[in-house]
Amino acid sequence: MRVFINPGHHPGLDPGAVNRNYGVTEADIVRDVGVLVADYLTAAGCEVKTVQSNNLAGEDAAYTNVCLSANTWPADIFVSLHCNAATPAAQGTEVLVYSRWTQADMLASCIQRQIVGSLGTVDRGVKERPRLVVLNSTHMPAVLVEMGFITNDDDCQMLINQQDELARAIARGITDYITERGE
Ligand SMILES: [Zn+2]
Repeated sequence: MRVFINPGHHPGLDPGAVNRNYGVTEADIVRDVGVLVADYLTAAGCEVKTVQSNNLAGEDAAYTNVCLSANTWPADIFVSLHCNAATPAAQGTEVLVYSRWTQADMLASCIQRQIVGSLGTVDRGVKERPRLVVLNSTHMPAVLVEMGFITNDDDCQMLINQQDELARAIARGITDYITERGE
């Protein structure tokens, strides 16, 4: 099973969302969690490729093209990692898919269940976001995990202090899906 991990944004080029009170950026958090997820999946017997790049689908030729790289490998599963941002009150975990009632939706539900179950984050569910390029330009079941809100105190502390639990939950969600799918 080939799992492609795409930590969102690009440290040094695109920080993504930022929490200045805690001095953290989304790009750094998802990079660190991505390394841990890759380690857990490798230990579980998956082949893993991780690409964090300013070039999602051809916008910045100086860097690796994320979707092309996943499609040509080819990956069996694509998982993008992000932190959400909104008003300070908004919190919780959600997983985004191109459309519901698909393999991606099943993968998303497995990851959502594991994160909410082990980190106790607010369950915002699985949502359709067909216009996201990493979801509509990849050829395999693809999900985008909004792990928590970097702009919320509780979530931000979780994103900083519980990266190992978070990574283990995401990896378990992926292996749950692989088991359910029967491969
Ligand atoms: Zn993001």
